[in-house]
Amino acid sequence: MSGGIQPIRGMNDVLPAEIGLWQHLEAALRELAAAYGYEEIRVPVVEHTELFKRSIGEFTDIVEKEMYTFSDQGGDSLTLRPEATAGIARAAISNGMLRGQKHKLWCIGPMFRHERPQKGRYRQFHQFDVEAIGFEGPDVDAELIVMMARLWRVLGLTRVRLKLNSLGTPESRAAYRDKLVQYFRGHEQALDADSRRRLGGNPLRILDSKNPDMQALIAGAPLIVDHLDAASSEHFGALQAALRAAGVDFSIDPRLVRGLDYYSRTVFEWTTDALGSQDAVCSGGRYDGLIAHLGGEPTPAIGFAMGIERVVELLRQAGTVPAAHMPDVYIVAQGTRAVSAGLALAERLRDELPRRRIAFGAGGGNFKAQFRRADRSGARLALVIGDSELERGVVAVKNLRGEANQIECPMSEVGTRLEAALKE
Ligand code: ATP
Ligand code: MG
Repeated sequence: MSGGIQPIRGMNDVLPAEIGLWQHLEAALRELAAAYGYEEIRVPVVEHTELFKRSIGEFTDIVEKEMYTFSDQGGDSLTLRPEATAGIARAAISNGMLRGQKHKLWCIGPMFRHERPQKGRYRQFHQFDVEAIGFEGPDVDAELIVMMARLWRVLGLTRVRLKLNSLGTPESRAAYRDKLVQYFRGHEQALDADSRRRLGGNPLRILDSKNPDMQALIAGAPLIVDHLDAASSEHFGALQAALRAAGVDFSIDPRLVRGLDYYSRTVFEWTTDALGSQDAVCSGGRYDGLIAHLGGEPTPAIGFAMGIERVVELLRQAGTVPAAHMPDVYIVAQGTRAVSAGLALAERLRDELPRRRIAFGAGGGNFKAQFRRADRSGARLALVIGDSELERGVVAVKNLRGEANQIECPMSEVGTRLEAALKE
């Protein structure tokens, strides 16, 4: 690395060589959301710290240790968003979008968490986020899941599996919570420091622990599915029936509790065996209590977030995505007059062939150097203009791919000739 200013650890540049994968995925996501009738929403990257504390919950990894929080010049405590749901719920409240209305929304953008950077885990990462606000489910719960099942199909990703669970209502969860506390209190010596702290705050989060030493204890804990209230049980059953009818495979993971505090009933996670330990590619759940908790009219809602970097990596592994778009034609010009003629020709061709990509080889250099750049650009054809071509009112058209050949054609006919050659 050079001696200049360093990038922030865990915050990555996406370089032109990789951008093709990103654009391919982003285009697929936009099409997917549109196909299901979801509308895009864009919310700020920074919110009042209080929003995340209140919505994500004090006893979560995110709020306890992962937030980028700072005071601005006016002394307000602000935080770079670690996830999108809180901001979208806030936006629905601030913009008067509730009062019995329903909204199907999506957004895409950067999120920030101060985690230990490693493959698949970054401090700035991107999410595709979908929220259905005002829907009680379980039909919309199923819709969100079939939407993602379709995405994996469209992208040709096969190594993705769905896990489901239900967290019940806050009331049924409170009863379960008591049982869980009782269980873990009985094994208090076996708890690690994190879990001991969570025992008082949010004991369900202990089930989320990734500490290998805790797994045996967690395996013996009472299961939330055995403590669901009747309505949640019915909701969960109907969701499973809808998924079976839609042909979506799933397994029930009674220990799936998710990292965030505000979930109720449905929770789900798509994982993959292709990414090592950072195996979650998409997760979400129902948050019927969140909007009221933030001061809005009580409104049921469900959403999920997909990690773009992890899915980009799956696409890279699958190797099925074409590289970034290459130019069709690259214009090589040498000599002051030829360069301005080349620039004018490029503009004319962009008018005549609006769907073609015309790259102008700015930057000078001899023909050899320019051809090297033309070749590297991936263009199929080069147009060559020098003094001699200019005098005769022609340009040379050179094939850069396959059989090498070069023909001359009158300036006035370049557009039609190019289109014909590119169609071959
Ligand atoms: P994990 O268990 O991997 O920490 P999480 O439960 O914290 O994930 P969510 O908050 O549900 O994840 O975010 C949804 C998705 O965003 C995850 O499934 C994952 O694909 C992606 N994601 C979360 N944190 C990161 C990160 N630090 N870097 C890259 N992607 C991430
Ligand atoms: Mg996490």
